Amino acid sequence: MQTHYWNLQTDTEGAALREAAALLKKGEAVAFPTETVYGLGADGLNGAAVRKIFEAKGRPSDNPLILHIANKEDILPLTTGLTKQAQILIDKFWPGPLTVIVAKSAVVPDEVSAGLDTVAVRMPSHPVAAELIRLAGTPIAAPSANLSGKPSPTDAETVLADMQGRIAGIVDGGACEVGVESTIVDTTGEVPVILRPGGITREQLEEVLGKVELDPAIAGVEAAKPKAPGMKYRHYAPKAKMYVVETPEALQLLPAFAKEAAKSAPVAVICGGKVAETMQRAEHLHILNWGTDKKELALKLYRLLRRCDKLGVGLILSEGVAEDGLGLAIMNRMRKAAGRQVLGADEMQELLKNSTQLKSFVLK
Ligand code: AMP
Ligand code: MG
Repeated sequence: MQTHYWNLQTDTEGAALREAAALLKKGEAVAFPTETVYGLGADGLNGAAVRKIFEAKGRPSDNPLILHIANKEDILPLTTGLTKQAQILIDKFWPGPLTVIVAKSAVVPDEVSAGLDTVAVRMPSHPVAAELIRLAGTPIAAPSANLSGKPSPTDAETVLADMQGRIAGIVDGGACEVGVESTIVDTTGEVPVILRPGGITREQLEEVLGKVELDPAIAGVEAAKPKAPGMKYRHYAPKAKMYVVETPEALQLLPAFAKEAAKSAPVAVICGGKVAETMQRAEHLHILNWGTDKKELALKLYRLLRRCDKLGVGLILSEGVAEDGLGLAIMNRMRKAAGRQVLGADEMQELLKNSTQLKSFVLK
């Protein structure tokens, strides 16, 4: 399949979005920017169109999609009714990086909801996304525009790398602003539950809702089954094995450990500026510095994980951050990318004492 590529910077006539919307109306899949990450869209009321998204991504069919709309009231036909909490969230955070789970109406195809009796809905704030949905004149089902299992794309070049030849088109509207996906809140029960932390923080939600729960599976309860089906997959995975380094003791050992480890295979360290300053330069050691605040890390995390793939490193060591504010979403993604592996100071110290063991740790 030929994949059209529209660069909005060179599209002075405004033809690109009209063409992209026409393809969506015809039942094709088209990628477009949102404020969170790039989405891969299709007509959300057309089951056959929605199936193209699953095919292009290689996404498991039991993983439901989010419907994207252009106006707040466009949620009404999609649901049998909104709870008070849903209404509060919509009033306060739309348009923006917040998805609400609501009771679904009969117009929503099973392909979208993966057979659940609820549906996920969001109104993005990105002007390109909003205009494209408006022109298409239908809710757009859109998961992230990456191959299933890879980190979500935050720019159009990355979408192209994953999706060229697999979808009808890509709208290049520049880099995304938030960098991690939307927060998903289940509004159907007594107390609202965060199913996936994201661009709107827990603190922001609590300010307007009072009590908000965190799905136990997100809070790290190993045995808990996540209520958002997609959260059970090892998403966001880079090719190399990855460890989160989070205690002050472990971070102190990180410079020496990374330098030694890089003698066996290329190593990437993902860290903020402060830790980067302590790192020693060494051959085959890549220091990927995301800067100073969590907003920058959220924006860059997926890009840095993909960069590790390009660099062909054998080991990724990533500095963990505190789980307040955007930190909750960041650490959720980082821990998943690492398959929940954490490297502590004791283990580092042991490995530093024995170079054979360190080598087999890096190469295993
Ligand atoms: P993505 O579009 O790739 O960001 O993934 C959408 C996320 O929303 C996945 O984790 C889904 O499991 C979740 N999701 C979509 N619909 C529902 C629903 N009705 N109930 C719970 N989670 C949902
Ligand atoms: Mg995704």
